[in-house]
Amino acid sequence: MKFEDIRNICVVGAGNMGHQIALQAAICGYKVKCSDVNAETLKKADDFVNSYLPGRVEKGRLTAEQAKQARGNIRFVDSLQEAAGDADFVIEAATEVLSLKRKIFADLDRIAPAHCILATNSSAIVSSKIADATQRQDKVVNMHFFNPALVMKLVEVVKGPHVSDETADLTMELSKVMQKVPVLLKKEVDGFLLNRIFAAISKEASWLLEMGVADVEDIDNACVYGAGHPMGPFRLNDLTGLDLSYIMRMEKFRDTGNPADLPNPRLVEHYMKGEYGEKTGKGWYDYTKK
Ligand code: NAD
Repeated sequence: MKFEDIRNICVVGAGNMGHQIALQAAICGYKVKCSDVNAETLKKADDFVNSYLPGRVEKGRLTAEQAKQARGNIRFVDSLQEAAGDADFVIEAATEVLSLKRKIFADLDRIAPAHCILATNSSAIVSSKIADATQRQDKVVNMHFFNPALVMKLVEVVKGPHVSDETADLTMELSKVMQKVPVLLKKEVDGFLLNRIFAAISKEASWLLEMGVADVEDIDNACVYGAGHPMGPFRLNDLTGLDLSYIMRMEKFRDTGNPADLPNPRLVEHYMKGEYGEKTGKGWYDYTKK
């Protein structure tokens, strides 16, 4: 496939990441269909687009015409068949569960045209764990956006051993046209680049909290005011979701069987209480009070 042949993009999952990836692609001129199994999520995503675009026009970031075009470019649908049937490129951003992703990719392989690339936005699952659910392993690749996807520039493209040069090149190119800065990982590695680096920081931050050395806010402040990070590890975790961190740690533990990979007790406590961070109003911080 030539890069110019990529016109229709399908995004699977309209949650935290999916609706923003879909909107970014629509703003950049692609025809986008974003699917989800949850009607409420689809409605919320559509409402977000309606409120986000006028705000961009007000701030002078988009012209009224560009906003109108972007609105016309994106649709939220409840059917994977409808979303992927004519797709040239799929970005899967569904819930971080390997068995679910394998099922979605097997379905996509059946539904999407033969030339279509199937990318996963997974934070931690390397595409070689998914590719063999399809008959097009060379076209299954990691394309990892960061949260919030409309704002964050980085995209990690991971070239697993099964990924063709053409797929990696087209995914890098698409990321650029979507106004992102892609980095290429030449081999699969657990946690990719940035999350590995963050994991080291986050592990140390959790240890300092556990040992009672400092509180959440002061550990975050040390990172912000001492290291120039835009936000500290706990605040960032509230943004990305404690549920996602918990699921990722459990997936890793299931993989390795190493107790050191289990989520730390405080994270488990928040998870069990349904305190997932900003989206539930409470996580490491309490947002109901601010
Ligand atoms: P989320 O829970 O906000 O959204 C996931 C969505 O997938 C939900 O709306 C759910 O209804 C939908 N879904 C589940 N099964 C589906 C199916 N069969 N078909 C269509 N939709 C389905 O999760 P999220 O935070 O947006 O994460 C999505 C993916 O993005 C995960 O793989 C995650 O690892 C990755 N990711 C997340 C972040 C982050 O900061 N949250 C950052 C980078 C990557």
